[in-house]
Order: sequence, then structure tokens, then C-alpha cells
Amino acid sequence: EVSDEDPIGRPKKLCVVLNPFSGKKSARKIFQNEIKPLLEAAGVLFDLKETERQNHAHEIAYKLDILQYDGIVCVSGDGILVEIVNGLLNRKDWGTAIKVPLGVIPAGTGNGMAKSLLDSADDLCTVPNATFTIIRGHRRALDVATILQNEKKSFNVLSLTWGLVADIDIESERYRWMGSARMDLYKYLHFKGRIGNDLMALFRVLNLRKYNGHIHFIPAPGFEAYGDPVIHVDDCKCEVLLSKWSKGGNDNTEQCKYMGPEVAMERMEWRSIDGPFISVLVHNVPFSGEDYMPAPKAEFADGYLDVIIVKDSPKSGLLEMMLSMSDGSYIKSPYILYFKVKALRLQPSSRVGQPTKGGIIDSDGEVIAGGDQPESCLMAYGPPIQM
Ligand code: ADP
Ligand code: MG
Repeated sequence: EVSDEDPIGRPKKLCVVLNPFSGKKSARKIFQNEIKPLLEAAGVLFDLKETERQNHAHEIAYKLDILQYDGIVCVSGDGILVEIVNGLLNRKDWGTAIKVPLGVIPAGTGNGMAKSLLDSADDLCTVPNATFTIIRGHRRALDVATILQNEKKSFNVLSLTWGLVADIDIESERYRWMGSARMDLYKYLHFKGRIGNDLMALFRVLNLRKYNGHIHFIPAPGFEAYGDPVIHVDDCKCEVLLSKWSKGGNDNTEQCKYMGPEVAMERMEWRSIDGPFISVLVHNVPFSGEDYMPAPKAEFADGYLDVIIVKDSPKSGLLEMMLSMSDGSYIKSPYILYFKVKALRLQPSSRVGQPTKGGIIDSDGEVIAGGDQPESCLMAYGPPIQM
């Protein structure tokens, strides 16, 4: 029985958003067999909504009568959570909406958030554990990063990747769906588990690309010595982007969607690192999948993003890193630069006469820039949500 005054805030009614196509397409079965009985036994009411297409979870969160619920729970992979956070932050009443706790029950291919929440210790990332944690009303704050690209704004929950790792993830995803006789063996192995991703990693490392461009960042305290000082602020055009950005937050007297964090970034000291890069990762939480821990030092609500950069490494060093990513120990590699930032601007470029290209930028599984049209993006920690 749950009383009105429950101090730890056990939920009475949840909105469950289920993606029937997550992972091995077993989310429905998982819900019926493992989750529903626990919710019923605990006396937690729920409305079940199944996603019918891409972006449907975004629409659900955007329109949901949130005051009816004590939480929104995803039975899916990370993709649905990302859509829900974006849907909530695009609402006019986003300030209220982001106070609604969000939960994830791992049922997808990529369950980085569930793994990060339930933590590193061995076997805690299971459906029953996630369900119990939700029923008990456990919660913690999580920073969401705001990404700005020209006029486009989106919100990032897990990670932004550029270069090698982005290519591996996106190409694996592509080959998962597209028929290609050449990739049949690969697809077969991918469905068998993470070996597919490792194979793609191997393939990419053997055909190593480097990516041109540069990053500018505001270092977190303790990381002021990373990179080089930006002397000519004009070079990075940060001012233009930032003034546009901070204007949105205050200009509108009527409530409007979340416009980005109000930080006086113009006054902070920017630093820079120039490419070419092999890989640039920006992480908000430690795990990006159950078997991948790219950012072992990432914290949920410290106000900083963890940045991991590989500028140069022999192929053997890269393979070693890939193989020790599951427990985060790869960051000990001498080829890795690991630091924390308050904001980061990533600017891919293709230089005339150079064989390397800008590469793609992947934000939480979605390509936000890439190919022959390099587009820079600025990213900074944003409002905390409740997980
Ligand atoms: P996985 O971890 O297996 O990728 P996710 O739950 O993260 O699973 O979902 C992956 C993608 O599936 C999301 O980007 C979402 O937009 C999309 N999606 C959701 N519902 C459907 C549907 N009914 N049909 C096809 N795709 C869908
Ligand atoms: Mg953080």
C-alpha cells in the first residue's frame, strides 16, 4: 500500500512507453511476463503505449497529459528515452515536464542508460532490477546536454561521437537493416551479439580514416591545462553562436520551449585542440551499451561532459583500446586524452587537397552532421532531468 505522504515518492501511476521493435523484438513479451506482474503486485497503475513508428515516443512525450503520471517508463533501448527527453524539452511547459521522473527498463540493443543507472557491478542491469528500482521510487538528477547547430536545437542524453566510433556505430546500424550479400556474415554475427560491432571496429581500424577539424571547449575545473588557449575568439565564431543562443532564453515573455542553458560562456576561457583526429567522444553517462564503458569517470549531474580524444595511435593500440572498452580500462592507454568540459564546440572540416573528410557526428544514435557537408555543433550541459 502506498500512502499519500510516501517520503521516497513511490509512483502510483506510470506511463509505460514500449517499443515492440527494440532489440530482439521481445519488449512486449518482456513486459507481459516480467514487468506487468511486478507492477501489479506492487499496486502501481499504468497506461501502456506502444510506439508505432520512429519519433512516435517524441510525439507521445510532447502531448502527454503529464500531470496524470508519477513517471514515464521506457521499455526499450536508449533510442526511446532520447526521444522522450526531446519531446519533454520541446514542450511549452518544459519546466514542469522535466520534473516527471523517467525510467528505463532494458529491452533494446543499446541499453547504455539502464546500465549506467543500475551501475557497473556485474549483473545488476536486468529487467527485474530496473523494475524494482522504479517501483521503489529511486531517482537521481541527470544533466542533459543541449546541442545547437545553426538554428537547430536538440538534446543529448548519452553521447556525441565523431570519427571512428561514430562510423562504427552508424555503419553497424546500417548493415543491420540493409541487405548486402557482402555483409551477410557480418549481419549474422551481429545478431549473435556484440561480436558484430567488434568486427566492424576491426574493419574500420584496418581501413583507418582520420578526420579533420577542431574542437573548442570550456574546461571543467582541474582541466584548464588541456589543449591550447584560443587567442582569436573570431576563429571559432563562438560569440556569434552563443549570443544567439542565450538570447532565446530570456527574450520571450510567453513560455516557450527550452532554449538552452543560461551560462555566461562568452566570458569563459575557451581552449582548443586541432585535428586530424581518429576519434572524439563526448559522454554524459559512463556506459553507451551494456558492454561498452567509454566514460568511466562520467557523473550524472556534475554539470560537465566527459571528452575522450584519440589523435594518433598505432593500429595495434587502437585494437587494444577497443578490446578493453567493456570495463573502461582503455582510458589508461597512452594514446587517450580524457578530460571534462562545460561546453564544447566541434567543427569538422574538409580541407582542399587532403584525402580526409569531416566524418559524421552521431548524437545519441542519430547522425546530426556528416559526409561532405561538415556542420559544426556546439554542446553544453543543460537542465537536469529526473531518472
Ligand atoms: P534498440 O536499442 O534496439 O535500437 P530502441 O528502443 O532504442 O531500440 O529503438 C530504436 C529505434 O526504433 C528508435 O529510434 C525509434 O524511433 C524506432 N522505433 C520506435 N517504434 C518503432 C516502430 N513501431 N517501428 C519501427 N521503428 C520504431
Ligand atoms: Mg556529467
